[in-house]
Amino acid sequence: MDARRHDYEAMSDRIWGMPEIAYGEFRSVAEHTAMLAREGFRIRENVAGIPTAVVGEAGEGGPVIAILGEYDALPGLSQVAGIAEPQEVEAGGHGHGCGHNMLGSAALLAATAVKNYLAEKGIAGRVRYYGCPAEEGGAAKAFMVREGEFDDVDIAISWHPASINRVDDANSLANTRIDFSFRGRAAHAAAAPHLGRSALDAVELMNVGVNYMREHMPSDARIHYAILDAGGIAPNVVQGTAKVRYAIRARDLPGMRALVERVKKVAQGAALMTETQMSLQVVSAVSNLLGNTPLEQAMQMQFEALGPPPFDASDRAYASQIQGTLSAEDIASAFARAGVTPRKDLPLCDFVVPYGTKGVAMLGSTDVGDVSWAVPTVQARVATHAIGTPLHTWQATAQGKSGQAKKGLVTAAKVMAATAVEAIEAPDLIARAKADHKARTEAVPYESPLPADVKPPIKPAPAVAAE
Ligand SMILES: [Zn+2]
Repeated sequence: MDARRHDYEAMSDRIWGMPEIAYGEFRSVAEHTAMLAREGFRIRENVAGIPTAVVGEAGEGGPVIAILGEYDALPGLSQVAGIAEPQEVEAGGHGHGCGHNMLGSAALLAATAVKNYLAEKGIAGRVRYYGCPAEEGGAAKAFMVREGEFDDVDIAISWHPASINRVDDANSLANTRIDFSFRGRAAHAAAAPHLGRSALDAVELMNVGVNYMREHMPSDARIHYAILDAGGIAPNVVQGTAKVRYAIRARDLPGMRALVERVKKVAQGAALMTETQMSLQVVSAVSNLLGNTPLEQAMQMQFEALGPPPFDASDRAYASQIQGTLSAEDIASAFARAGVTPRKDLPLCDFVVPYGTKGVAMLGSTDVGDVSWAVPTVQARVATHAIGTPLHTWQATAQGKSGQAKKGLVTAAKVMAATAVEAIEAPDLIARAKADHKARTEAVPYESPLPADVKPPIKPAPAVAAE
């Protein structure tokens, strides 16, 4: 893997330089497809009907090991690499603020290593690289699971760029995004206000109602909203239409479904109060992550054997500069999340958190959740950023091509590949992983959180390939 690392670091850098957001990752997926072809994988494009999803498979017979990659960027996080102050590459442009340029490149490097290992040793087994688009709010993996893309997979392995090295503790929330649209009646706001019925009023009353509901929901549930359409910019026109997008998160799918029904009632109440019509559209939905003890323990052993990424003095110098732009709370919370004692003057993580360490729960959401309900799944979090760097910030984008990013990428690839090889070679690991998965899903079997009529919001490929 060390012999091939430069090709994958270069691919990560190229993808960093072409930030594409949810379902628009045409150039990024082309990079991954070209690398799969070069490495000799059997390629399937347009996976689950999504033009920016790709799967590459290698090997024959035996178990099927899925290695999950991502390559989508975030809107509004354009940032020059390698500096420690905010400066956009392109005003208002996209940026790799979650490190998915590294995520996909490391996953593909791991898959390639496993492929070559199986071929050299003549071992039966298949490794499959899943190029998954639209992790950021697009739930592509949930659609891929719903379309049966993981039906014959034995286990799935992934990772995420982070600032602390550890095996992921599978702590994430189920999440759904729903657009609530209100239709009223436009009117002159001064001359004929009595004839108008304001859709914007309905949105505001819905938000007030949900804000009152917060006191009476489970403490780890989360609700956020953004007004997508305020009905226009003229205050002297009663707003005839308005739209608000809600993100509703809860500990698990039954909890999320219950909360969604309550939010719907608030929306109906707002429509009733304002004499407007309400309609709703689910945009995306993902499940909470499910852990898997045998796979987590196996990955932990490999991670400890390989050790943390071998950062050098120049990596630490840049990371220190980045830490200078972070608050003390940012840095303290990174340690708290991992459950380890804070250390001063430690710009980059030089340890692997022991297995089972309990930290403060990180209550985000990811579409890896749905894969984890379909098949036993394990993820590493590998240090690629200065300790305390919050993801989805300019500081995260700035470090995406740094020395720490590249060393973290290669370490992540080695941890994933070693875990995959152990799963293929250790006779009972996959069986134990499956038994653990069965025990966790027996009481509440998986049911896709995506309504049957909801399709991924795919975009047409650009007519002319952008240069
Ligand atoms: Zn991410």
